[in-house]
Amino acid sequence: MANTTYDVIIVGGGVAGLSAAIYTGGAKLSTMVFDTGKSQVTQVSKVMNYPGFAEGISGTDLIEQCRRQVSGLGVELINREITGVERKQDAFIVSAESEQFESRYLVLATNVNWKILESLGFELEVNPLVPSGKIRFAKGIGYNGETHIPNLYLAGLHTPIQSQAVIAAGQGANIGITIASRALENTYMWHDK
Ligand SMILES: Cc1cc2nc3c(=O)[nH]c(=O)nc-3n(C[C@H](O)[C@H](O)[C@H](O)COP(=O)(O)OP(=O)(O)OC[C@H]3O[C@@H](n4cnc5c(N)ncnc54)[C@H](O)[C@@H]3O)c2cc1C
Repeated sequence: MANTTYDVIIVGGGVAGLSAAIYTGGAKLSTMVFDTGKSQVTQVSKVMNYPGFAEGISGTDLIEQCRRQVSGLGVELINREITGVERKQDAFIVSAESEQFESRYLVLATNVNWKILESLGFELEVNPLVPSGKIRFAKGIGYNGETHIPNLYLAGLHTPIQSQAVIAAGQGANIGITIASRALENTYMWHDK
């Protein structure tokens, strides 16, 4: 029996996962983000290519601002490692050691940590768009992150995108909008008026 049930669970609180959360939280879907605090962008002392920050922003500040933004939208954030994911009827059961959490939609945004993808049986291949040749993504998955498992989405570098923060953020946002639109059964778009 799961401890708590959410509309959406997002595993990975980097720019991709947090951007997805902006939209699911903005659409008032109950959303939980689990994160282990190792976003790649926090290795960058000054990100100079993220729109809106002409003087640059430290990667740590960028993540902190995103975290504040999603918290303001009612999204819950927990610093916990997710160690397992199971599909049970129409729900996902997500495990953090002995604790379990349940959701209708699940987003995996764990970037260079492929463990959960492998445990779910995804085949991985090298992402030709990343020059190091070391980054892998799930075979057969497109930009929209949709998978053969209903309501499971892959975000960021689990999909064939370039390794740049704004691209990961945009791809995550696309998933957040897709989930919001499906859950609300109406095309969701964030417009002020
Ligand atoms: C050295 C370096 C320099 C870079 N410089 C730039 C730059 O100047 N400009 C630029 O645009 N891009 C840069 N990038 C790329 C940028 O960092 C990435 O595009 C961006 O961080 C990807 O975002 P993401 O959300 O997909 O992954 P991440 O930001 O890496 O987030 C993934 C998150 O998932 C969490 N996680 C992983 N496994 C689990 C788990 N099992 N349970 C819970 N949480 C988990 C991690 O702790 C992490 O916080 C750089 C990357 C590197 C490595």
